[in-house]
Amino acid sequence: MNAIPRPDNEASFHADPVSRQTFNEVMVPTYAPSDMVPVRAQGLDLWDQQGKQYLDLTAGIAVTGLGHSHPAVVEALRAQADKLWHVGNGYTNEPVLQLARALTEATFADRAFFCNSGAEANEAAFKLARKYAHTKFGPHKSRIVSCVNSFHGRTLFTVSIGGQPKYTEGFEPLPEQLSHVPFNDIEAARAAIDDDVCAVVVEPVQGEGGVLPADPAYLKALREFCDARGALLIFDEVQCGMGRTGKLFAYMGYDVTPDILTSAKALGNGYPVAAMLTTESIAAAFSVGSHGTTYGGNPLAATVALRVLQIVNTPAFLARVNQAAELLVGKLNGVVRDYPQIFSLVRGSGLMLGMVLADSYRGKAKDIIKAAEAQGLMVLIAGPDVVRLLPALVISDAQIDEGIARMRAALDALVTPQ
Ligand SMILES: *Cc1c(COP(=O)(O)O)cnc(C)c1O
Repeated sequence: MNAIPRPDNEASFHADPVSRQTFNEVMVPTYAPSDMVPVRAQGLDLWDQQGKQYLDLTAGIAVTGLGHSHPAVVEALRAQADKLWHVGNGYTNEPVLQLARALTEATFADRAFFCNSGAEANEAAFKLARKYAHTKFGPHKSRIVSCVNSFHGRTLFTVSIGGQPKYTEGFEPLPEQLSHVPFNDIEAARAAIDDDVCAVVVEPVQGEGGVLPADPAYLKALREFCDARGALLIFDEVQCGMGRTGKLFAYMGYDVTPDILTSAKALGNGYPVAAMLTTESIAAAFSVGSHGTTYGGNPLAATVALRVLQIVNTPAFLARVNQAAELLVGKLNGVVRDYPQIFSLVRGSGLMLGMVLADSYRGKAKDIIKAAEAQGLMVLIAGPDVVRLLPALVISDAQIDEGIARMRAALDALVTPQ
C-alpha cells in the first residue's frame, strides 16, 4: 500500500479565528443564530467559545437523541472512517444492508430508501406516492393532501406540501395538485380525500407547527379514508420518530400503520442520514433509475444510523424515555402553575414537549429562549407562541432538575424588572 502524503499546511488548518460576527460577513442570511457559538459538547452539556457551559434541551432540534458525542456512536464512526467512507450507488455496502434489515425488522416496512435529510426522505415519499398512483390508477390520481401548519422540509415540493404560506411566498410557481386541511379535523379530511388523491401526509406529532400530537381518532380516520380511496398514508416521523415519543416510531403508539414512513433527524444522531420506509408492493412502483441520490446510505452514514438504532430500539431504553418524560412533564406543569402570566399549558408526547404561552405573553417565545440562554439553558421555539423542549433521550433525573432550575431562574429574570 502506498503511503498518502500529509498536507504541508497542516499546522495552519482551522487556525483562523471566527466569531458570530463572521456569520454576517460570509453566510447567506437564511438564519439568525444566537450570539453564542458552540464549540464542544458531551451528552447534554455544551460549551461556547468563552467556555461557558449550557444544558442543551434542544438536541440540535431533535437530532442528537443519544446526546452529543455518544461514545458508542463515536466509536462506530471512527472504526468505519478507517475502513470505507463512500462508494456510490454502483455498489452496495455492508452497513447499508444491515441498516435496512434492522429498520425493516423493527417496523411495518419491507423496503428502505436512504438519503441525507428529512426533506429528501419526504421528497422520495411524495414522488413514490405519485408514481405508485400513476402506475396503478392513471395520471388523474395525483393530489397530495397535507395539514395546515405542517412542516415537511424546504425543497420546493416539500415546502409547498407543508402548509405554511410564509415559507412559499416568493417561490412561485409552486408544484400543483396539493391541498391543505386543518390538523386533527376529521370532517375536513373526509371532504378533501377524494378519488384524485394519491397520498395523505401527516406528522403524528406536529413539531414546527407547535408541538401538537394527532388525536388517535384522527389518524385512524385518515387510515380509513385512504383505504377507501386507494390513497397512500404517509407518516412524517422526521422529528417525532426514533424514540422521541417513547416508542421507536410514533405510529406504534397509535396503532395505525402508514404505507410510507420517513425518518431523519435522530436517525444519525448528528450524522446526516434519512430513510424512507415502505412495503414491498409500494416500493415496486420505483425501478432502476426512478430515483436516487449520491450519498444516500453511504457506509459512514449507515454505520452511524445502525449503531443509533441498536441503542434506541430496546425496551429498557424506551421505558426510560417514558419515565424521563413523565418526570419532566410533571415539573413543567409546576412551572406553568407558578408562572401563569407566562404559560398556559404543557403539551406534546414523550420528550417532545411544548410550553404554550399565556395570552398576555403571546408572540414572545424568543424572549424566553434568550433569557434561558443567559442562565445557561438551551431551549427552542415552535412558532412565536410555544417554547419547545427536545432534550436528548438520555437525559438524567438530575439534568431534568437542573433544566427546571435554570428555566425558573430565566423566568424570574423576565418577570422581575432588572
Ligand atoms: C425537520 C423536519 C423536516 C425536514 O428535515 P430536514 O432534514 O431539515 O430536511 C421534515 N419534517 C419534519 C416533521 C421535520 O421536523
